[in-house]
Amino acid sequence: MKFLITGGAGFIGSAVIRHIINHTDDEVLNVDKLTYAGNLESLVEVEKNTRYSFHQIDICDEVAVAQIVKDFQPDIVMHLAAESHVDRSIDGPAEFIKTNIVGTYTLLEVLRKYWLTLGGDKKAKFRFHHISTDEVYGDLEGTTELFTETTSYAPSSPYSASKASSDHLVRAWYRTYGFPTIVTNCSNNYGPYHFPEKLIPLMILNALDGKPLPVYGNGQQIRDWLFVEDHARALYQVVCQAAVGETYNIGGHNEKQNIEVVRTICALLDELKPRDDKQSYTSLIRYVTDRPGHDVRYAIDASKIARDLNWEPLETFETGLRKTVEWYLNNLEWCRRVQDGSYQRERLGVN
Ligand code: NAD
Repeated sequence: MKFLITGGAGFIGSAVIRHIINHTDDEVLNVDKLTYAGNLESLVEVEKNTRYSFHQIDICDEVAVAQIVKDFQPDIVMHLAAESHVDRSIDGPAEFIKTNIVGTYTLLEVLRKYWLTLGGDKKAKFRFHHISTDEVYGDLEGTTELFTETTSYAPSSPYSASKASSDHLVRAWYRTYGFPTIVTNCSNNYGPYHFPEKLIPLMILNALDGKPLPVYGNGQQIRDWLFVEDHARALYQVVCQAAVGETYNIGGHNEKQNIEVVRTICALLDELKPRDDKQSYTSLIRYVTDRPGHDVRYAIDASKIARDLNWEPLETFETGLRKTVEWYLNNLEWCRRVQDGSYQRERLGVN
């Protein structure tokens, strides 16, 4: 099968590509604009494989997208390209509206026209898999409820509102045009190659540098954490097995308060990389002003994907977080090149 993957240089997209190249015989074309979040150094282990190729393209560029689709003739499209950081969406929503909404619309239209040209088995097999987030469902503060596939949308941030809009477009293209789509909504991911502005890598790297560990508000916000390689496996399974028009929630059964996550990272670092002064890394924790509109609790009911597709996460939060901390300790060069910007400067030819 020929997979066109958008956003494959990002955190989850690169995990999906590593999964497909390492565990299947499928071919992958990675289409990515290479924004600050795109890092081809996350793909070094597959970049020389003859089943992998890359094109630097903005998904809002209809002409470029149409040309690459015509040349590659995909069987499956997995759409992960997005602006994804909530804090950045609060500071500057414009790129989120462009990429997440207009970019998704552009892909839907180009690919619908392409799909109409297909015949026989190729047309029957074609799928457009839209990768989305549990944040579209809004806030579960003060309840013990879980998000199901039928929970009403109530996004709180410019990021989640833009993702919700794109989900609605995808569903409309299925319902109106019969375009064969699948949507997945996943909880917070963590694991190797996560951009250091996100909570878990930020805490690990700040701790190692002896810098403060900034925790929003009282740190009691709850997220449902999933190891990124479990998510990549789930996405591949969904796109190969799910019925057209389906939606699946994907989660890790790991509801944790942010402060709990930070304390667990500190405990792992105390064990794996003790500080010279023998103090615990927890002494670096600082509470900072909360993010505006911050949702308090997200939690996924992942029973539908377990029941229909027999998918379960392989990692518990404890095993996944240990692997993650160990990965960062062993890959400080990847982190340093992201932190000092050299991963971008070199590809732009700037010193
Ligand atoms: P990321 O920010 O790490 O990667 C996004 C990728 O998209 C980058 O490589 C970037 O260069 C690329 N991109 C951005 N704008 C583009 C454009 N206009 N054209 C082409 N490429 C562009 O994001 P991620 O964490 O890997 O998330 C991937 C997807 O999964 C997103 O759609 C996100 O909403 C969703 N998601 C993320 C999480 C999470 O915890 N990270 C959870 C659930 C769902």
